[in-house]
Amino acid sequence: METLIEVKNLVKKYGNHLAVDHLNFTIEEGHIYGFLGPNGAGKSTTMNIMTGYLGATEGEVLINGHDILKEPEEAKKQIGYLPELPPLYMDMTVREYMEFAAELKKIPKEKRAESIEDVEKLVKIKDVEKRLIKNLSKGYRQRVGLAQAVLGFPEIIILDEPSVGLDPKQIIEIRELIRKLAKKHTVILSSHILAEVREVCDYIMIISKGKLVASDTPENLERYLGESGLIEIETRTEASKVKEVLKNVPGIEKVSLKIDASGITSGQIREKRGQDIREELFTTFAEKKMPLLKLNPVQVSLEDVFMELTQSDKAAEEFARKAKEAEKGEVSNAGDL
Ligand code: ADP
Ligand code: MG
Repeated sequence: METLIEVKNLVKKYGNHLAVDHLNFTIEEGHIYGFLGPNGAGKSTTMNIMTGYLGATEGEVLINGHDILKEPEEAKKQIGYLPELPPLYMDMTVREYMEFAAELKKIPKEKRAESIEDVEKLVKIKDVEKRLIKNLSKGYRQRVGLAQAVLGFPEIIILDEPSVGLDPKQIIEIRELIRKLAKKHTVILSSHILAEVREVCDYIMIISKGKLVASDTPENLERYLGESGLIEIETRTEASKVKEVLKNVPGIEKVSLKIDASGITSGQIREKRGQDIREELFTTFAEKKMPLLKLNPVQVSLEDVFMELTQSDKAAEEFARKAKEAEKGEVSNAGDL
């Protein structure tokens, strides 16, 4: 698969504030990427640098091998960009604005009309073509912004929070549109909402405080990070006896138990890092004739993972470790085959 964008060691400082902190990643052809991160994470700044709207403090961005700063024309030709605040001219009609955008993009005169028609149909703004932009609803304005980004059908389409401020129906429409675009283009969109990124994107990059703290498919993120190391148990045996038995099971870090009104002891067992004690637990309890009603590893949702990664530096480090281990694991598995 072809690499379309390379971001190398990208740094952006606003005064003393480090908004983008040594970012490294590549964008491959044919995916829908999601930049996911809370407000202030550095998503817009990164996108502005990738599209040549903003200079970086350090590092470089290559678009199909062209440096965005040294060869801006070549590089920019391959990108359509919908910034956070689309540069719409309120006193233009939609059509006038599209003509203007076509001129800026240097679409040859004889091809402009056809090009504009194609995009207007795709984004469904043909019927508002003659209206002034200032009289359009937020949803339609966003579509006009999107139309401007898609005009000329560049290979890469970058959308900064494309569904912000839209109502639920408009959000569904814009997602459908993005999926349609992704059939022929590589799309990168940003969002602070996990559900959105998960639904639309096939690759998630979690950004927190200017750093890339995780990047993988939604499934892999869930898989690597879903194991919490916690096991839930339930039994009718009284808590003090359960505690006693657990003392002899190796690999346990911590136990917390409670008893409910019906006499059921329930609780959570935290495993030591890298241990899987489920079988040991099962046989130990069985041997003592203390049947377990429940033995269940606690799965963490992607929501929890996202919250943790973006709130705690320690969690982010832990992720990096897990991701590395998973990678190693996959490599050696592949070797065995
Ligand atoms: P996001 O798009 O993820 O919400 P931004 O890239 O807009 O994040 O902002 C990243 C950080 O940089 C934030 O702390 C923001 O306050 C700061 N920032 C963004 N633009 C500027 C600017 N022009 N001047 C100073 N600080 C800025
Ligand atoms: Mg932003």
